[in-house]
Amino acid sequence: MFSLYLIVGLFGALVGSFLNVCIYRLPRHESIAWPGSHCPSCSSPIAWYDNVPLVSYLILLGRCRHCAMRIPFRYPVVEALNALGYVGLLWFFGPNWPAVAYGLLYSGLLVVAGTDLSHKVIPNVITFPGIVVGLISAATVLPLGLMNGLIGLLVGGGILWLLAWASPYLFGKEGMGGGDIKLLAMIGAFLGWKPALMTIMVGSFLGSLVGITLIAVRVIKREDYIPFGPFLVCGALIALFFGQSILDWYQGLLAG
Ligand SMILES: [Zn+2]
Repeated sequence: MFSLYLIVGLFGALVGSFLNVCIYRLPRHESIAWPGSHCPSCSSPIAWYDNVPLVSYLILLGRCRHCAMRIPFRYPVVEALNALGYVGLLWFFGPNWPAVAYGLLYSGLLVVAGTDLSHKVIPNVITFPGIVVGLISAATVLPLGLMNGLIGLLVGGGILWLLAWASPYLFGKEGMGGGDIKLLAMIGAFLGWKPALMTIMVGSFLGSLVGITLIAVRVIKREDYIPFGPFLVCGALIALFFGQSILDWYQGLLAG
C-alpha cells in the first residue's frame, strides 16, 4: 500500500507540472501541447532533467539554468499540492473510480485557482469539459447519480448566477463573473447540490474574512477587485473531503 501512495504521489507531481503549463498558457490563449516547455524570459527550451517536478526547482535553486530568471514559487507549490491532493484522495476514498473522478475535479480546481489568482480568469476550457466530465462521472462511477449531478449543476450555477445578478444592487459593485458561475456548475455536477451550497458558504466566508483583513491592514483598497475563484476552490475542497462529515454532524445537531 505504501508503494501505491508513492506512485500516486509521483504521478500527482507530474500532473501538477502539466497544470503549471495550463495555468501559464490558458489565460494567454497559447496551445498547451506545443511548443515544449521553455523559459518565458530567455525562451531556452527546458531539458527533461530541468523539468523534474519539485526536484529541479530545488537543484536549480529556483532559477532558470540559462538566464537565471526566478522561477515563480507557484511551480513547486502547484506540483506539491497536486501530489498531496492525489495522495489525500487515495487515503480518503481508497483506490477506486470515484477517487479518479475526484482527482480530475481536484486538478481542474487547482488550474482555476492559479489562473484566477494570476490573471483573474477562470478558463472555459476547464469548466465546460469539467461540467461534462462531472455529469459523466455522476452517471457512472460516483455514488451521486446523474439526476443529483444535474441538480447540483443547476443549484450551484443558479445561485451564483443570482448572486452575480444581484450584487451590483446589494453591494454596489460587480461581485463575480461568469467564470465563477461555470465553476460552481462544475463543482455541483461532481458533488451534488448540498456540497455545492457548502462551497458557496465556505467560499464567501473565507473571501470576506481575507478581504476584510487585507483592507484592514491596507494591502488593498475597499474598491479593489479580489478574485472569488480561489475561495470557491477552497470551499469546494473542504466540501469534497469533509462535506459528508459536516452534513452528518449538522443533521445530528438538528435531530439531537
Ligand atoms: Zn531563462
